[in-house]
Amino acid sequence: MFKQTLTQEESLTKELDLLEQHGLRRTLRTVETGAEPEIVVEGKKLLLLSTNNYLGLATHPRVKAKAIEAVQQFGTGSGGSRLITGNLRLHEELEQTIAAWKGTEAAQLFSCGYLANVGTISALAGKGDLVLSDELNHASMIDGCRLSKAATMVYRHVDMDDLHQKLRDTRGQYRRTLIATDGVFSMDGNIAPLPELVSLAEQYGAWLMVDDAHGTGVLGDTGAGSVEHFGLSGRVHLSVGTLSKACGAESGYVAGSQTVIEYLLNRARSFIFQTALSPGVVAASLEAIHIIRTEPALRHQLLSNARYLREGLKSYGFRLIEGETPIIAVLIGEAKTAVRFSRRLEEAGVYAPAIRPPTVPEGMSRIRCTVMATHTTAQLDFALAQFKQVGQELGVIS
Ligand code: PMP
Repeated sequence: MFKQTLTQEESLTKELDLLEQHGLRRTLRTVETGAEPEIVVEGKKLLLLSTNNYLGLATHPRVKAKAIEAVQQFGTGSGGSRLITGNLRLHEELEQTIAAWKGTEAAQLFSCGYLANVGTISALAGKGDLVLSDELNHASMIDGCRLSKAATMVYRHVDMDDLHQKLRDTRGQYRRTLIATDGVFSMDGNIAPLPELVSLAEQYGAWLMVDDAHGTGVLGDTGAGSVEHFGLSGRVHLSVGTLSKACGAESGYVAGSQTVIEYLLNRARSFIFQTALSPGVVAASLEAIHIIRTEPALRHQLLSNARYLREGLKSYGFRLIEGETPIIAVLIGEAKTAVRFSRRLEEAGVYAPAIRPPTVPEGMSRIRCTVMATHTTAQLDFALAQFKQVGQELGVIS
C-alpha cells in the first residue's frame, strides 16, 4: 500500500521535473507589502509592474476605512451562504450598485470572478444548448463550458467571420445559444469587438456574455467597462466580472435581467453552495465603485500611464500586442527566454513575471506588464530603462 503511494508520488515528481526542464514549473513568490507601485518581494524592494490593482484602490485610505468600519460592525466572516444566514443588506446594496453601474435590471455576487463564470455558464447552458467561446477566453469561462453539459465550439480569437460561420452552421439546432467573450483579454490586453458581437447575437437570437474582469473600472465614461466604452449598455445579456482588479477588493458578479438573476439564484451551484462574501470586502467594493464613478481623473491617469509605457517599449523595438488598456503584453517567444527576461528584470529592480503556456500558446510567452494610475513618470522611465537594458542583453531587441 505504502509502496504504491510512493510510486504515485514519483510519477508526480517526474511530471514536475519535466515542467522544470521546459521552463514551465510554477512556484510562489512571497510579497511582503500591499499592491503598491513599490513592493517588497522576499526582502527586495521592486517596482511593481504586474498588478491588477490598476487604480491603486486596494490600498486607498477611504476604501480601507470602509472595510475596517464594516468589520467592526459585522465581523470578519459572514458565517453562512446567502440563501441561509449570510445575506446582509451590504450584499444587496452592492448588487444594486453594480446593476445601476452596468445598466442592467439586477446583479448577483459570487465569491470571485472565477466562480461567477463557472456558475453562470454551467447554470444557463445545459444539454441541448450551445456555447460559442473565443479561443482566448479566460480559463474560468472554459471551465464553465466544461462543467455545463452544453456543446461548446471555440471560434478563432476575435474572428467575427469564424463566429458568424458557426452561428450560420448551427442555426436552429440548439435550444439556447450563448456567445461568451472576455471584454478585455487578460493576457493580450486587447478589447473584444463588442459592436460586431452584439449585432451577431441580435441577428441570431443568441445571448452575449461578456467577462469584463479587466475592463471594469478602466474603460467607459463612468468606468463601467468595455460595454460602456462602446456605448452598448443594455444590449449585452450577461455582464460578468470581478471586483478584485481595478476595484481593489474581491468578489465576482453577474449583471443581467431580473429573470436571469433569479434563475442563477436558484441554479448556479457556485452561488448556492458558497459562503456569502465577508462584510469587509463588500464595503470596500462599494467605496471603490463610488470613487471610480465620481473621480474619473484616476482612470484618465491610468490610461495615460498605459500609453506612455506602451509607446516607450515600442520605440525600443519590442514586439507588443496592440491595445489601449493597461495590460501590455511584451512578446518574447520561448518560455525559457521569457523566464530569463523576467529574472533579469527583477535583478534590475522591476517585478513583471513571465507568462507561459498553458496560460498562453506555445511560442507566445511574454512579459505581461500592467501599469497603475499611481505609477509616477519617474517610475515608468525606470521600468523602460531596465526593459531596454535586458532586451538588448538577451537579444530580444537590437
Ligand atoms: N476573468 C478574467 C478575464 C480574469 O482575468 C480573471 C482573473 N485572473 C477572472 C475572470 C477571475 O476573477 P477572480 O480572480 O475574481 O476569480
